Amino acid sequence: MYLLNHPFLFEFLTFAFVISVVEVVERKWGAYEIQRSWQWRLNLVALCVVIIGSKISTGTWNWVSSHLLFDEYFHSEYLRKLSSFPKILIAIFSVDFCLFLIHWLMHNSKILWIVHKFHHTPKIMFWLSGSRTSFFHLFVFALPQVVIPFYFLKIDALEASVLLSFSLIINIWVHMNYKANIGFLSWFFITPQYHRIHHANSYLSGMNLGFVHTVWDRLFGTYVDPNKVQNFDLGLVRDEEISWKSLLGI
Ligand SMILES: [Zn+2]
Ligand SMILES: [Zn+2]
Repeated sequence: MYLLNHPFLFEFLTFAFVISVVEVVERKWGAYEIQRSWQWRLNLVALCVVIIGSKISTGTWNWVSSHLLFDEYFHSEYLRKLSSFPKILIAIFSVDFCLFLIHWLMHNSKILWIVHKFHHTPKIMFWLSGSRTSFFHLFVFALPQVVIPFYFLKIDALEASVLLSFSLIINIWVHMNYKANIGFLSWFFITPQYHRIHHANSYLSGMNLGFVHTVWDRLFGTYVDPNKVQNFDLGLVRDEEISWKSLLGI
């Protein structure tokens, strides 16, 4: 309970624990030979942008939501009274759908692509690659992640910690240099090899847009079976110089 009252400490310890495990797994069972030190300074700066940008964006949406009285009008009493487990499942499923739609828009709108393209700059994939998320990208993604669980479902501190850990783990998981064999579950859940296709430097980058569930890609026609596409390079379709603008997403 001490940790729940200190969310930053909770997040830090979760992060430290997860990356320790992931580092061991990637170094021992990595799917590809990679040079992890490639652009390491940029990766660390990007990680700082994510840590600071996440705080600012969630704080901003919380402020906006409370001032727009979302708490009073934008909710369902029935859903708010559910127990933790179904509430968390509903939050994960609905947020994942919203993020899928936003991600689709990012790939199909010139303005939102500017916000998103920094995420597609890595030419090697490992857990830290997921930290390449621009400042404004964090803002756009934080909207459903704040409004749905905190205002629509009114989750408590413990449920919020579970969701926070889940989203952190998912972001690390999908970017891992690891070929996961999760059997029939891969029909429903995204694996690193699934998301790797999304980072291809070809038309494939418009595919496999989901983060947790594969169902959205299957429904919207953006699904590519990771077993059928094996050899491709990663990065932007057209190489661009990375600058501070890339980090901001402008
Ligand atoms: Zn993308
Ligand atoms: Zn990614």
